[in-house]
Amino acid sequence: MQPFTHDIAPGRVVLGAGAVDKLSAEIELLGASRALVLATPGREEQADAATSSLGSARVGLFAKAKMHTPVDVSAAGQAEARRLNADCLVTIGGGSAIGLGKGVALELGIPLICIVTTYSGSEMTDACGMLDGGRKVMHQSPNMRPKTVIYDPELTVGLPPSISGPSGMNAVAHCVSAICSLNPTPMKSLISLEGIRAMADALPRIYQNPDDIDARGDALYGAWNCGIAAGLGGRGLHHKLAHVVGGSFGLPHAETHTVLLPYSTAYNAPAVPDAMATIANALGQSNSADAAGALSNLSKTIGAPASLKAVGMLESDLDKAADEVMENQYPNAAPYDRNKIRALLQAAFEGAEPGAQ
Ligand code: NAD
Repeated sequence: MQPFTHDIAPGRVVLGAGAVDKLSAEIELLGASRALVLATPGREEQADAATSSLGSARVGLFAKAKMHTPVDVSAAGQAEARRLNADCLVTIGGGSAIGLGKGVALELGIPLICIVTTYSGSEMTDACGMLDGGRKVMHQSPNMRPKTVIYDPELTVGLPPSISGPSGMNAVAHCVSAICSLNPTPMKSLISLEGIRAMADALPRIYQNPDDIDARGDALYGAWNCGIAAGLGGRGLHHKLAHVVGGSFGLPHAETHTVLLPYSTAYNAPAVPDAMATIANALGQSNSADAAGALSNLSKTIGAPASLKAVGMLESDLDKAADEVMENQYPNAAPYDRNKIRALLQAAFEGAEPGAQ
């Protein structure tokens, strides 16, 4: 018997083609009637169309969400919600829109409903990394846990493969971190494995045919599992690396996760050999020891970026990044070692074979 502590609040999830049509009823169910809609710039048209059925229950659209959730944007969103006397928030979009929703809900305590159009998994957690003074700082609060999540694959067919793939790998990263975490639980492992399996099945199908509604639905189902895994906890070295590289050096979030994942997995491999076999298995890898290689292969199959250089990192920033990773460490199975982390970053910068460093 493996002792554990399991802690997750129930959440309401509505998944299916056309699920967005239930938005009005879902808002009523929460006893709310004045929704402020939040989105990223450029997505106003989709946000408007998906929420037009709300009529006068939609009091405004604030499409200023930014990646990494800068605190000044959240403050502007809070001011807008107060000005409009909103009693609930509806995000439509990916992790950036959800991050803005969390940033507003953190202060205002009004319910958050997420219509999800990427695979970030943020909709299933009560945590958010927020960019404050040039650094990404983690916040956690029950106010930030969405009350209702709507997954409608029809809203995701326009998500280009260049965003879909890395976004899906970001979801897979939550599962890998959960499985490798210091406090695995039976449910965390089950959900994580299902998340990896579902994403590894759906992402290549989306890459081949972005209009495949079944594949899009399967990926959202995968993202739901991966998000639960993230919510159950397990952020370790991998997420620390991604938060430093993405937050402090302005790199795109999902792409940064995608590039780093095989390297952080290889780093952890000696500390958690059983977890490696489980992950490799879920990815259908015959060599049960090579989870890092299996993740790298999945990335290649879906045409995702393979080096930090390719996503905009400067080699001259690698030392600074390694120093920053050593600060405020997220608990990890393998101990933090500055030299090894610097070597990991160099290998990821070059796109070298993971584990060879
Ligand atoms: P994103 O939300 O920034 O979306 C990426 C791009 O895709 C944006 O330009 C967006 O406008 C566009 N887009 C979204 N939906 C689209 C659609 N249906 N069609 C066409 N374009 C569309 O990126 P993301 O990777 O989903 O989210 C990144 C953010 O989420 C980061 O700030 C990260 O920190 C956060 N995040 C948080 C958690 C958590 O648990 N708190 C987990 C994962 C990510």
